[in-house]
Amino acid sequence: MALRWLARASLLATSTGVVGVLGFSAAENSLEPVRPLAAFIRDCKKKNDDDATDNNGGGDKAIAAAKVVAERPRVLVLGSGWAAQAFVRDVDTQQFDVCQVSPVNYFLFTPLLPSTTVGTTEVRSIIESNRVIASFRNHSLSSRLAYILRMRTPREVACVEGEALEVSASEKRVRCKNSRGDEFDLEYDRLIVAVGSQCNTFGTPGVTENAHFLKSVRDANTIRGAVIDSLESASCITEATEKKRLASTVVVGGGPTGVEFAAELVDYIRSDLSNLYDEARNARVTLIQSADHILNTYDKKISEYAEETLAHANVDVVTNTRVLEVKESCVVVKDKKTGVVREVPYGVCVWSTGVASLPLTKALMAQASGNAQARARALRVNAGLEAMGLKDIWATGDAAAVDNPKLRAQLKDLFAEADADNSGYLDKDEYNNCLAIAARKFPQSAEHIRKVAKYFADADLDHDGRLSMTELDAVLDAVDKKTRAYPATAQVAAQQGSWLAHRFNTDDVGAGFIYQHKGELCYLGNEKAAAGLVGSGNQEVVLVGETVSALWHGAYFAMMRDQRMKLKVGFDWAKARVFGRDTSRC
Ligand SMILES: Cc1cc2nc3c(=O)[nH]c(=O)nc-3n(C[C@H](O)[C@H](O)[C@H](O)COP(=O)(O)OP(=O)(O)OC[C@H]3O[C@@H](n4cnc5c(N)ncnc54)[C@H](O)[C@@H]3O)c2cc1C
Repeated sequence: MALRWLARASLLATSTGVVGVLGFSAAENSLEPVRPLAAFIRDCKKKNDDDATDNNGGGDKAIAAAKVVAERPRVLVLGSGWAAQAFVRDVDTQQFDVCQVSPVNYFLFTPLLPSTTVGTTEVRSIIESNRVIASFRNHSLSSRLAYILRMRTPREVACVEGEALEVSASEKRVRCKNSRGDEFDLEYDRLIVAVGSQCNTFGTPGVTENAHFLKSVRDANTIRGAVIDSLESASCITEATEKKRLASTVVVGGGPTGVEFAAELVDYIRSDLSNLYDEARNARVTLIQSADHILNTYDKKISEYAEETLAHANVDVVTNTRVLEVKESCVVVKDKKTGVVREVPYGVCVWSTGVASLPLTKALMAQASGNAQARARALRVNAGLEAMGLKDIWATGDAAAVDNPKLRAQLKDLFAEADADNSGYLDKDEYNNCLAIAARKFPQSAEHIRKVAKYFADADLDHDGRLSMTELDAVLDAVDKKTRAYPATAQVAAQQGSWLAHRFNTDDVGAGFIYQHKGELCYLGNEKAAAGLVGSGNQEVVLVGETVSALWHGAYFAMMRDQRMKLKVGFDWAKARVFGRDTSRC
């Protein structure tokens, strides 16, 4: 009973012949639970039984308490990124047994990952242990103090370091693998899929073999080593063309990650590497973007300022260009306007062109009933973040695609509900009421629905002071066209994780998840940055320049919930500024 999560693990361990895996000893028939879960169960017992004498929860009272605990629904969370950690922090562990599984035992603060590729920030500064988060979920000063004083506090969430390999939605079971390669099964009552995404290669040949992705701690460390490795190699040869190639970096993808990496790299070259490597003085950084502009989802002013700033910093910004292939030492590109194909040599190539679903997510989508997940870019969820066509599964963050139902499909119902006097037309009050109903029913579109409220006169095409159903149809069509999928960002993921926890705690879906966009920031190098901040009335205020760099630093500093992370990052920034970045390769 106590091993609720691991009900099938013994079976698997025995059936696969892996006796002793997870601490089970099938031969002696003595059931020794896998460490983290045993600790979880012990902690729960202690929490519910003041008289429990030891960590093993001895005594009848402890057993009774464990039974009460065992009746809580088991919530299994896959992942330890933005969405998962927000959920874990906010979910009520008095109501739910929560277990978190992730192949890495930490949370990664991704916005600062590009800066770790050059040593402006160290990777250890931007990670936080899952177990620490699970122990000090509210990050209060008293819980921090308890941690500093090494006081034992009950961990309210069980943490398992393991990769989810496969979900059986029908059996409510997840097969996992730990870092030693041992496989085990975990059962759930509710499953939260927060596994994030992978880099999208769009099937371009040679990307996986030759380019570096920038998604994880390992990626950042590999890129950091590769940049130095290329320069060290360049310094050992005399042939000019090869020397130049090795000192060149190609960044594919002009989104925020690609731009910030290019910006950090040119800072690194200018401030640190040029003093130490002659080759670095001629180092080229080429940023390749398939669209007309880099940062093309941001305000036009930001895109233009970014292009200008990077060009000024000697970044070769190549737009309207598609990468056809990544070869071992060059990328083959095609100019979309002229059709000219050419090769761009590189020593290091970094690929950052959007996101795609992980195999685990795709396999889960395939288990959905009917066409619920057909042609979805990620797990399609409703406004309550519940995976469509799957039972008791919710998805958040990059792994989820919130379904945007079309308002037009509800035209007749909306019209009828708002037409209070049954006249067959909507006057201005009825129109506003219709939009209020629509905003309640379609929270994803609420922002755009609010915007069309002032266009009653424009919508009234025949100027008769009222709207017919056809005229309302045109308004709803305009809203449908404006409603986009949520972007794959930390902002969306964290808000969804937190919203879902509150939805579980209160058992109330309310109007569903509504994303509050707070704006965007991008570092552009040489102490310059750009920001689009959402002000009152959902208007975006665009700021660019050197002072915005302080805003960029301040905003990310404020986003860190862990005081220790703040301290370490602050120290890294000061260290890089005073002493320069560490250029050693270890
Ligand atoms: C370099 C970089 C910079 C970025 N900068 C910004 C920014 O400045 N602002 C912004 O808003 N967004 C930014 N983003 C995007 C943002 O990081 C993502 O949108 C966000 O991380 C998505 O959150 P998530 O919780 O869905 O996934 P993630 O944060 O990616 O977390 C996924 C988690 O799932 C785990 N996992 C993976 N596979 C499995 C499995 N099989 N089983 C169990 N667990 C698994 C992973 O280890 C990880 O812990 C950046 C992304 C990158 C890569």
